Amino acid sequence: MQEKLRIAVQKSGRLSEDSLKLLKECGIGVPNGNNQLKINAENFDAEILFLRDDDIPEYVQDGVADIGFVGENVVLEKNKTADIVERLGYGKCRLSIALPKTRKKRTVKDLDGMKIATSYPFILNKWLKQNRLKADIHVISGSVEIAPRIGLADAICDLVSSGSTLFSNELYEFETILKSEAVLISGKKLSPKRRALLEKLLFRIRSVKKAKYNKYVMLNAPNKSIGKICSYLPGINSPTIVPLAKKDWSSVHSVISESDFWNVIENLKAAGAEGILIIPIEKMID
Ligand code: ATP
Ligand code: ZN
Repeated sequence: MQEKLRIAVQKSGRLSEDSLKLLKECGIGVPNGNNQLKINAENFDAEILFLRDDDIPEYVQDGVADIGFVGENVVLEKNKTADIVERLGYGKCRLSIALPKTRKKRTVKDLDGMKIATSYPFILNKWLKQNRLKADIHVISGSVEIAPRIGLADAICDLVSSGSTLFSNELYEFETILKSEAVLISGKKLSPKRRALLEKLLFRIRSVKKAKYNKYVMLNAPNKSIGKICSYLPGINSPTIVPLAKKDWSSVHSVISESDFWNVIENLKAAGAEGILIIPIEKMID
């Protein structure tokens, strides 16, 4: 039988939609599975396994799945044998220690001797040790944020993104111990065929990621400004310059990165660029 790449994704939760979207952008279709555990992907030698996110590191370690899309927080907490092969840029959150608003603390030393409720005992314990702190870790699996109010703990260590859950539970974020995002993990013992499929997928993921961080820019400018305009457009290649029907004017095309996007646009305008068009890039292949 044909060997397929077995890809684990979260069955239903915060990472499910973005993981399937990324696969789709890589040309891998996932048919609607009506709650199936396993389904064949379209256009790629792959099988998609829908699992609870907490189980993904172990399944990958044990070779039940070859690769998995999962939060780095879960990978580090489960501490299984698997490699992080790519950071994916979605599912961003942080693991933070939060305290009741009434308990204003100044330094991490103030955490000494506290009782901290968390679903992340492994990561928290490691952080406490690194900071030479002794705290009493109380493990709970859900609704960690209510622990201080019901007298179960003095503090919590939990995932935060906007901070609204903390706010509505009268807690404040005291210290971030981990910054996390979704990652792609791989087992250590993939067969050559499966490793080749992973390489193929990674190449596609990197092209999609790169395209997201870059924009295609087109603008018109008088020829006398072209030199200055080009100096603001490093791009991957040198810009394309096309003469316009309008005398002594040209159109300039290039690729700019999103990180310094607005600065570049402002500089281009100041240098005489007009009719600037910014176009999303679908894929970017080196
Ligand atoms: P499952 O039923 O699969 O065990 P879950 O309830 O443990 O799901 P979700 O709440 O869906 O998990 O979160 C999945 C992942 O999304 C987290 O492990 C984390 O990496 C990421 N994430 C991003 N933002 C947040 C947030 N504000 N709170 C919790 N997780 C977040
Ligand atoms: Zn979970």
